[in-house]
Amino acid sequence: MKIICIGRNYSAHARELKNEVPVEPLFFLKPDSSILHKRHAFYIPEWTSNVHYEVEVVVKIVKRGKAVLEKFASRYYCEVGLGIDFTARDVQTELKKAGHPWEKAKAFDGSAVVSDTFVSLNDLGKGIQDLRFSLLINNKEVQQGHTADMTFSVDELIAYVSRYMTLKTGDLIFTGTPAGVGSVAAGDKITGFLEGVQMLNVNVK
Ligand code: ZN
Repeated sequence: MKIICIGRNYSAHARELKNEVPVEPLFFLKPDSSILHKRHAFYIPEWTSNVHYEVEVVVKIVKRGKAVLEKFASRYYCEVGLGIDFTARDVQTELKKAGHPWEKAKAFDGSAVVSDTFVSLNDLGKGIQDLRFSLLINNKEVQQGHTADMTFSVDELIAYVSRYMTLKTGDLIFTGTPAGVGSVAAGDKITGFLEGVQMLNVNVK
């Protein structure tokens, strides 16, 4: 399986990092080896001194799709989860400056936190573009988002990405982070909520 991550999909976040709001979706991949093992702590790698948290709604792909039309995209998912796209921001800044790919900063071991559970949109009784989510560090809210604020909807993202690469059952799409990203420190306790339900609990070491 692969993890497809969408960059700068909430304009307030794009602006906080002094990036342009994209005119078409921006995506990159994380490998399956980037997934933080269940109930393991997140260890800040020794080669970075500035790891940022980015909370994101995660969409699980339920069937194979190539060049999916936007009007059929909703057939390719039925459940959502929550994730954290850990980013070595200092390393990413250097890579961006050099015009290099982002993998070192984005695809390292443990950089993808995925909730144990996914909830069905049917059970939630909500549309994919009407979900509220948040991230707390040591019980203080640092990010909160509403999927209505995405620049590109989930259906647009599925249509766009599947023009370039086949989506396969079990693939995950990290749909972008809202404003409020910041650094993590050893000892932090991170919790994430989707529609008021706690989905994530990560200790930073
Ligand atoms: Zn992200």
